[in-house]
Amino acid sequence: MLLIWGWRTRFKQLAEGVFHCPGCGADRHYAHKQARRWFTLFFLPLLPLKVLGRHVECQTCRRAYDERVLDLPTSAAVSEHLVAATREAAVHVLRVDDTPAGRAAAVAALSRVSGIAWGEDALAADIAGLDVSPLPARLRQLGDVMNEHGKEAFLTSVATVAGSGGVLSGPAGQVLAGIAADLGMTPAHARGVIDQAFDPTR
Ligand SMILES: [Zn+2]
Repeated sequence: MLLIWGWRTRFKQLAEGVFHCPGCGADRHYAHKQARRWFTLFFLPLLPLKVLGRHVECQTCRRAYDERVLDLPTSAAVSEHLVAATREAAVHVLRVDDTPAGRAAAVAALSRVSGIAWGEDALAADIAGLDVSPLPARLRQLGDVMNEHGKEAFLTSVATVAGSGGVLSGPAGQVLAGIAADLGMTPAHARGVIDQAFDPTR
């Protein structure tokens, strides 16, 4: 009797979900797959052999990536964090230095980052009751994925909330310095960005 035997690689799907595809540059569906070699007899897989590796496949561009790609946050998660961080940072500043111009700057910054018209009432409710304790951890996470330009833009928008009167109070300055440190900016870098926000002609 003639035995026809051989090997073949089969893929098993371990999980699926949404990830940020580096190839597409956007959030996409992925399949997390494991490749295993099988011993075949008459072309039928009979014995599972070695696991050859695991990869993450984009369901849009079909490119395969190292599993570590799943550690990166999705764009949706980053923008959600950014809105939450802007809310908490603006409230944190306004609690130490509350001015009508500062509130207007906060409403403008929140409308810009969220893409919806932010209400003054929503801001007032946040100033009265929002828990800002998640802010430092949130800023550290954002600092890991933001580039220098993103950090500068964030700090600038919070600085406009703090210094709408043209003068930065001591406590508000300390809040800004803390935000910059949590984002991973050096004190000198933060100082430069804050000075620039106060005097754009420099
Ligand atoms: Zn893709």
